[in-house]
Amino acid sequence: MKRALFLLAAFFPWPAFAALNIFACEPEWAALAQEIGGDKVAAFAATTARQDPHRIEARPSLIARARNADLVVCSGSELEIGWLPLLLQQSGNARIQRGSPGYLEASQAVARLEIPKVVDRALGDIHPSGNPHVHLDPRNIARIAEALAARLVQIDAANAAYYRERAADFGRRWASALEKWTRLAAPLKGVAVVVYHKDLSYFIAWSGMREAGALEPKPGLPPTPAHLAELIERMKRDPAKAVVFSPFNNPEAARFLSERTGIPAIGLPYTVGGTDKAKDLFGLFDDTIERLLGAAK
Ligand SMILES: [Zn+2]
Repeated sequence: MKRALFLLAAFFPWPAFAALNIFACEPEWAALAQEIGGDKVAAFAATTARQDPHRIEARPSLIARARNADLVVCSGSELEIGWLPLLLQQSGNARIQRGSPGYLEASQAVARLEIPKVVDRALGDIHPSGNPHVHLDPRNIARIAEALAARLVQIDAANAAYYRERAADFGRRWASALEKWTRLAAPLKGVAVVVYHKDLSYFIAWSGMREAGALEPKPGLPPTPAHLAELIERMKRDPAKAVVFSPFNNPEAARFLSERTGIPAIGLPYTVGGTDKAKDLFGLFDDTIERLLGAAK
């Protein structure tokens, strides 16, 4: 029995002291789970900031992690439709299946933007339940933190007081950071940006910025020469202040548009770990705002 436990620990190196194993689809949810769960949880992120969360493979190493998870936290709203259902199925772990307490879709805790009136795949890789990239509105993080804390309390009632206390502390620190960000981001109001994918929509809505176009001709489709030519023309009539892209986007198209129009191309962290300064959720917003303010001048 001892030997079996040792082997398990060797193959699935979750810290032995952790009460709960959390499998987060994206780095932002692993960061949030660690904020709320403290040393009662071990949070694992299935993807890094350099990986496009739409396009992940349900690799055996991820399936092994899911097999031992007590809670899965993902953006949901079909962001992970290409890999999460298979991963959950292959895990054989009843605790984390859709509809169980061990399955949490962050986007369900917030109001989603861009819910399509008609779902037509000809319009690209659109998400029928709305835009799933909900983490870039800092107000959404506060709501999702509450939903996550409630779920931790539900599945690990023995540590309920601990989770509630940490959630309250995070809520206070977040509220004061939000005040600061609201003040700092004021000059971004009305500033037009060209995005790569529609993954900045929640930040744009929060800050009052304006999306002047997207490098993808349709969501999920790579930029094409014809579409870029059309964007260059559009920038003559309606110039943007920046062309932005995420760490997992190919920066070539952004640079191409930037060279042809003189509009700066700016890499944004997108999530925790996306830049050196985006070390945690606080750093993610600090750095995103700072980089955009640099372009808005
Ligand atoms: Zn998307």
